[in-house]
Amino acid sequence: MTRYGIECDLQRGGYLKIAHKPSMLKSLEAQARLLNSRFSDPAELLSPDDVQTHYLATQKSAGGLYFPYSFGLNPLKLSMGLANAAQQSGAALYAHSPVQAWQQLGQQHKLHTPTGSVTADKVILATNAYTGTHNHALVEQRHFPVLSSVIVTEPLSETQLAACRFKSGLLAMDTRALKYYYRLLPDNRILFGGRGAITGRGATSGVFKQRLLQALKDQFCGLQDVRVADYWSGWISVSLDDYPRVWFDHTQGVGYAMGYCGSGVSFSQLAGWRLAQAVCEEPLPSLPFYQSTLKRFPLSPFKRMGLWGYYQWGRFQDRWL
Ligand SMILES: Cc1cc2nc3c(=O)[nH]c(=O)nc-3n(C[C@H](O)[C@H](O)[C@H](O)COP(=O)(O)OP(=O)(O)OC[C@H]3O[C@@H](n4cnc5c(N)ncnc54)[C@H](O)[C@@H]3O)c2cc1C
Repeated sequence: MTRYGIECDLQRGGYLKIAHKPSMLKSLEAQARLLNSRFSDPAELLSPDDVQTHYLATQKSAGGLYFPYSFGLNPLKLSMGLANAAQQSGAALYAHSPVQAWQQLGQQHKLHTPTGSVTADKVILATNAYTGTHNHALVEQRHFPVLSSVIVTEPLSETQLAACRFKSGLLAMDTRALKYYYRLLPDNRILFGGRGAITGRGATSGVFKQRLLQALKDQFCGLQDVRVADYWSGWISVSLDDYPRVWFDHTQGVGYAMGYCGSGVSFSQLAGWRLAQAVCEEPLPSLPFYQSTLKRFPLSPFKRMGLWGYYQWGRFQDRWL
């Protein structure tokens, strides 16, 4: 971002992982111990009072783990900035050109779009959760698109701001199985996200907008009158073992980076660079991200049913266990 002068509304307030009930503090303590001792990470364990006094005035905190170096950004501005930087470095970008058919011609690939085609020796799939079902055998049934939904409120009044007391620039997420993530944007609106519908047909249903709004009001008693200005939903790519992968198959001349499980804004930047190294046959670090493929989902036709079951279990677990 600094190298290419990309302006993307950086919010440098750190990231707070909030224990949504006392039993979750144990796992946060264990994380803090591991991060502090093995990686010299300054992650700091917080009491419920610390959270309330110095970070945000939520009703739903049993303490938290604070990562001071994390920051937020506007991902659309980051994408536009990267696109400009790529073009300035000589890349040719073609928007609104979906690949609709993929033809193998010996060692080469021919990709067909509605208005033209491209022939290439090497192809990278950078389509993450939007990868079509029958895109390429290398990724087929190896990731699971799941909907995530977001509301953005109208700008908060001075009274509402005082009632939430967000530490400047703070990003927050809780420890629920069905997590909520949120932050106060630079223009004083709250962005609040969580899970979405089970299938694409339900993606725009008002139920999820209402559910997120209610969850936001449950977090902050001073926001009972807050109104939603925007709501949207999109797909995240879930991998079987929760790890994304960066993989290039030199025999086929095809590679991918995907499976970020909803946390790909920063990792996809690194993944792009590692994938370029893999294409150039440079050695990659000895980590599972780079040394193994995405795992195949078993019982693929029943994945949506499994997701429904997981959501029911998650709701029960978050409330009662
Ligand atoms: C509601 C929501 C909230 C999220 N919140 C966060 C967050 O807070 N933090 C975080 O780290 N991550 C978050 N994510 C996840 C994050 O957006 C992704 O991990 C990230 O965008 C992945 O980047 P990418 O470049 O790999 O893929 P994408 O940004 O998804 O880009 C894929 C591109 O491929 C294109 N494409 C698809 N099919 C074709 C085709 N056939 N031909 C040509 N092009 C094609 C698509 O049009 C798209 O432009 C969120 C996602 C959603 C939906």
